[in-house]
Amino acid sequence: MSDKIVAFPGAEPLPENPITVEREGYRYCAHDRITLDEHVRTVRCTDCGKVFEPFDYLLSNALSIQRAWLSHKEVMRKASEKAETVEALTKEEKRLKARVKLLKEKAEPSIDIKGKWL
Ligand SMILES: [Zn+2]
Repeated sequence: MSDKIVAFPGAEPLPENPITVEREGYRYCAHDRITLDEHVRTVRCTDCGKVFEPFDYLLSNALSIQRAWLSHKEVMRKASEKAETVEALTKEEKRLKARVKLLKEKAEPSIDIKGKWL
């Protein structure tokens, strides 16, 4: 019989786990400032360091720009409508002021410089 004791495979202590998971912090970041790193070809938030998948980032920004374009077009259309309304109202105000002036002149007799009532 042999005195040699063989350790059961897997009984030795585990080596340190080579994988580390870094959790995202709870700090809110709007990712307003972006750094494009040409060397490692990444899109990264300058403030919090979050790395974005480049296509997703580009697509997200393209959709934002598309929405902004549509909003701008709609705002310009409304501004044009308002400008037309203001122009029409200005003409109407001018017309009504002239009418009021005419009616006042008819209702209130003016004095002739010779002292006669007209
Ligand atoms: Zn950020």
